[in-house]
Amino acid sequence: MQNLLRLSALLSLLALAAACSTNPATGEQSFTAFMSEADEARVGAEEHPKLVKESGGEYKFPQVQTYVDWVGEKLAKVSDLPDLKFKFTVLDDARINAYALPGGYVHITRGLVALAENEAEMAGVLAHEIGHVTARHTAQRYSAAMATNLGLLGASILGSVFGVPGDINRLAGQVGQIYLQSYSREQELEADMLAVRYMTRAGYDPQALESFFRKMAQHTSISQRVRGLPDTDPADNIMSTHPRTADRIAQAIRLSNVAKADNARLGRDDYLDRINGMLWGDSPEQGVVNGRTFEHADLKFRFEVPPGFTIINTPTQVSAHGPGKAIILFNMLRKQEAQRLGDVRTYVTSWAGGRLTNVERLTINGLNAATGAARLDTSEGSRDVRLVAIQASGEHVYRLLFLTPPHATQSLGEDLRRTTYSFRRLSDAEARAIQPLKLRVVTAAAGDTPEDLASRMPLEKFGLDWFLALNGLSPGERLKAGERIKIVAR
Ligand SMILES: [Zn+2]
Repeated sequence: MQNLLRLSALLSLLALAAACSTNPATGEQSFTAFMSEADEARVGAEEHPKLVKESGGEYKFPQVQTYVDWVGEKLAKVSDLPDLKFKFTVLDDARINAYALPGGYVHITRGLVALAENEAEMAGVLAHEIGHVTARHTAQRYSAAMATNLGLLGASILGSVFGVPGDINRLAGQVGQIYLQSYSREQELEADMLAVRYMTRAGYDPQALESFFRKMAQHTSISQRVRGLPDTDPADNIMSTHPRTADRIAQAIRLSNVAKADNARLGRDDYLDRINGMLWGDSPEQGVVNGRTFEHADLKFRFEVPPGFTIINTPTQVSAHGPGKAIILFNMLRKQEAQRLGDVRTYVTSWAGGRLTNVERLTINGLNAATGAARLDTSEGSRDVRLVAIQASGEHVYRLLFLTPPHATQSLGEDLRRTTYSFRRLSDAEARAIQPLKLRVVTAAAGDTPEDLASRMPLEKFGLDWFLALNGLSPGERLKAGERIKIVAR
């Protein structure tokens, strides 16, 4: 609801602004009816901390942040808005994504930094986002959304809160914020063209856009298979917010009409030095997935999902996808909400407008809890829904939501009950023993194969696929002795 109010307030505030403006990057007139440059700066400054918070916060690893600043500023200086003060933020998010907000706020996830293989690839992503800012796509998107799309946006925002299941895919995926909406194909092509220009002016080889695109495609494919889904774009991947194809990137390189820089910089060794030791996968503050177990070192709890379920951890919630479209969602109640709550039974009784029945109290490994169930209609069809709320301390209330298609509820019942009762507090020693995964740069020895190195990585599944994607290798490709490569280690 807050988001809706904010948007409509903006709408009335900005409605008097000029209907068209000249685009600094393209020289064309564009529709930015609701936003002047001063509005852009203000909206960016307002939205930036929210985006950071929803994406897991800032990733505090100075050797990476200072590097991103250095590369980003080199590109910004040769962009079409050289005087705009850009701000570059690395997000503590393992997914592969990048976002731009109006006013020069550029964000990339640490997952993206870990996936790129050289400075030029990262520069390509930053230059692309800078292109969205200088071509004022973010402002156009805001204006278009506010003019035509308010109702629709409101619906997706409401669906993203852990309330009544509306659109399950969205619920199980990520928030539907305005800045996560896709750009149009024309805007993507324009951002790629501008990226090629800025990269070339800053001395990078624009082919890096293509090599990074291939890595993203590999990553998308693994992420989908991890979820047991077909090999198409997941909702929370960079490809859904920046829809592109390899052809389009090649087209952008042709259309940009710039001569390739002599001795164009790839910066592979510098890049590998900088990213060596950074987090890979879950961060300890957001909990760690270990096979079917989810453990949280700071909040000191763990639970386990049934065999056949795969856990996906994102900054705002944990989901597990199982057989027959069964989904388990897990998250924590906001502090203020939990304090207001008083009692978990009252909470479960009033959830989703009091639609749950058979509400009862439970004790789960010594913790007060309550549960209730109902059959609800959702956009994906009928679902049996069971909510379990667990009071772990005065201010920490955890929620497990089980969503099963009615035909699967009976057969999964015992497994899901076991998940509920697997929830328990961790001892201090157990919490200390939780070790996140790190990215390490090593040198291949003579005779090392991708299969050997992948099998030494502490990953349950898809080790070889991750190894190939991280190093931009194709299946069957050999390693050269003395070559520096990325591996995942504890
Ligand atoms: Zn884009």
